[in-house]
Amino acid sequence: MIVVMSSRATGDQIERVVERLQAMGVDTNVSRGVSRTVIGAIGDVTCVDKDVIRALPGVEEVLRIQKPYKIVSRDSHPENTVIDIKGIPLGGEQIQVIAGPCSVETPEQMRAAARGVKAAGCRLMRGGAFKPRTSPYTFQGRGVEGLKMFREAADAEGLPIVTELMDVRMLDTFLEYEVDVIQIGTRNMQNFDLLKEVGRSTQTPVILKRGMAATISEWLMAAEYIAAGGNHNIIFCERGVRSFERAYRNMLDVTAIPVLKKETHLPVIVDPSHAGGKAELVPALSYAAIAAGADGLLVEMHPTPCEAWCDADQAIDSRQLQDLMAHVGGIARVLGRSV
Ligand code: PEP
Ligand code: MN
Repeated sequence: MIVVMSSRATGDQIERVVERLQAMGVDTNVSRGVSRTVIGAIGDVTCVDKDVIRALPGVEEVLRIQKPYKIVSRDSHPENTVIDIKGIPLGGEQIQVIAGPCSVETPEQMRAAARGVKAAGCRLMRGGAFKPRTSPYTFQGRGVEGLKMFREAADAEGLPIVTELMDVRMLDTFLEYEVDVIQIGTRNMQNFDLLKEVGRSTQTPVILKRGMAATISEWLMAAEYIAAGGNHNIIFCERGVRSFERAYRNMLDVTAIPVLKKETHLPVIVDPSHAGGKAELVPALSYAAIAAGADGLLVEMHPTPCEAWCDADQAIDSRQLQDLMAHVGGIARVLGRSV
């Protein structure tokens, strides 16, 4: 960390900054230039509150050299991390397409969905038993009963399951049903107590979706909360951010993919369904995601999309999922990857 003092800073003010930094446990190096003095803070500066130093008299600017996130940073782990989900690798050469309905509805719907996911060649299945809905009067998910239906349908096809955890009080139930990947949704990206708990209580992989108005840095820090608890099995999922545009649901931030791949060693996947919000947009957004370096996709599919209880507009059907897999496979091959 570098503290730039103002050109009018007095000797006393410089001394005070040095004392304050040392009291916070770091060494200092004072470099006096012609017009201004620069103080270097050396050592582990993670505990130094930048804003506290910035508020001291005579300080003009405080620059953090070290990244505020550590465990998730590529600096700490230069190689890509490949997460093992019941023997299925995510983050390596092979791209994973996780498909399934927005929400668990009935045992029949889940069985048909699981068959469609399997037939398309996907290796993992998604489905929400607990749904974060904008209105409290709309369908809220089948709850624990839904987890059971999901588990049974996916087990019949040998597919590991991905499902959203909204409430920390349900974590034990998720572990009881051996949920293979816990999804933290966009609305909970900064639910720090939830992040801490999935960090310290389990090693189950976590898909951390990007908050709908979160910066990449805030997203990385949210992942650091999980990692700091001890669970390093984290998968980032870009699902579009809020924008002024109304022609689609959210704006897919394709640029975030290579930026994240540079900043973190952890896998990055993309949800084209909640980004576009329309089934017809799913293929194009999926291709863009894979071309930009995503390690996988999280796609909403439904055996009969027009009958879906939730997000019917954006669900593709089994045949469309098969087409998607074929085209994604073609793009993957060009990039030296496979699906
Ligand atoms: C979902 O994947 O079912 C979901 C609710 O997504 P998001 O949190 O991205 O809105
Ligand atoms: Mn949905």
